[in-house]
Amino acid sequence: MKTEDIYQLYTKHFLVDTDTRTIRKNTIFFALKGDNFNGNAFAAEALKQGASYAIVDEEKYNNHSNIILVDDVLETLQELAKHHRKTLNIPIIGLTGSNGKTTTKELINAVLSTTYKTSATKGNLNNHIGVPLTLLSMTPKTEIGIVEMGANHKKEIAFLCTICNPDFGYITNFGKAHLEGFGGIEGVIEAKSELYTYLKEHNKTAFINPQDLLQVEKTKDIESIPFLEGLQFMEVNPFAKLALNSNEIQSNLIGKYNYTNIAVACTIGDHFKVSNQEIKAGIENYIPENNRSQIIKKTTNTIILDAYNANPTSMKAALENFEEIKAKSKTVILGDMFELGKTSLEEHQSIVDFVENLHFDHCFFVGENFYQTKKKNSLFKTFEDLLSHLKNNPLKHQSILIKGSRGMRLERLLDILS
Ligand code: ATP
Ligand code: MG
Repeated sequence: MKTEDIYQLYTKHFLVDTDTRTIRKNTIFFALKGDNFNGNAFAAEALKQGASYAIVDEEKYNNHSNIILVDDVLETLQELAKHHRKTLNIPIIGLTGSNGKTTTKELINAVLSTTYKTSATKGNLNNHIGVPLTLLSMTPKTEIGIVEMGANHKKEIAFLCTICNPDFGYITNFGKAHLEGFGGIEGVIEAKSELYTYLKEHNKTAFINPQDLLQVEKTKDIESIPFLEGLQFMEVNPFAKLALNSNEIQSNLIGKYNYTNIAVACTIGDHFKVSNQEIKAGIENYIPENNRSQIIKKTTNTIILDAYNANPTSMKAALENFEEIKAKSKTVILGDMFELGKTSLEEHQSIVDFVENLHFDHCFFVGENFYQTKKKNSLFKTFEDLLSHLKNNPLKHQSILIKGSRGMRLERLLDILS
């Protein structure tokens, strides 16, 4: 069956699903293949659960009149999304960058959804599957789309742009994330800038931070909209606070680095004529979730949990920010940063050295990478080692910053910190 024919089926309900555990009635099930599963084997189950159709790419599963055989399910999903994009006559904002994409996406959505019917990336579904799914979650009722695009290799952002065809783009930063796949920071800059190349070639617009000279340089041939002039950064204690035309906006986000994330959300809101009052309400009502910079008050300790992910840039930003927060006694618990390739040891050493020059009462480093650094104490090879140390030496009356890569699952510490 051709993509256009599948598209006709999709436009009956505008629903697609890829997981039989969360499938919706009248949806079209796309039988994707992962490392550990073959969606084809779930096609019949999907129909049983109420899917109208299932798209498969293995002949032997093509055994029902509502199962449709294609050459490649993933490509079909991507083509369907591309086709859908062409029918959507709405502005789409595409976001990429090394850090802060999800936070920024959610802030932009929080601001724009005060005034428009928006459709944005769910959670962190920002890859070659997530971007098509995001596009296909937009319906004729959607007024503005917000799409997070992630990458750990070159050419990925260029490809995702062909699917979502953004009218506006924003790059949060060029940082040291996924260095392995990009081949160093130069590679990161080149890869993220694929968004700018797309905007330029299609006469679209970039939002930019005028203080970020590299971004200014990279967008010099593109129509660009700088951050609002009426915005002023006030303080972080511990939440970022700013003023928009002298109206104070108190966010629920920890960390100085969130200033630019908030600033671009305000700027985009203003561009789409959201009133200052609604911009303020959108930012102030946004509360981060998913272990992304949460403050958790325990009986004696106050925890800043930032265990969602970590890389050298976000780690340093979080540490610098924590240094500035006023608190009687501070502890940092840092877990390994993954995906750093050849520079891994060097980057972990650099974090250890960085911490040495700051002023924390206790520091703990956990994971095989930190364990290899030249540090004499407070190193724990495994999570269990750290856990038993903390059980024997409980932390009390501390402000505690916890940060590490997702795979370290440092949120497990919450159970033993009281
Ligand atoms: P992922 O690659 O997992 O999708 P992301 O780019 O979506 O990550 P977020 O999940 O929004 O990023 O934020 C992750 C962490 O990055 C935050 O908890 C914070 O420590 C750091 N961070 C957020 N914004 C910035 C920024 N503008 N500059 C540097 N670091 C940031
Ligand atoms: Mg993200």
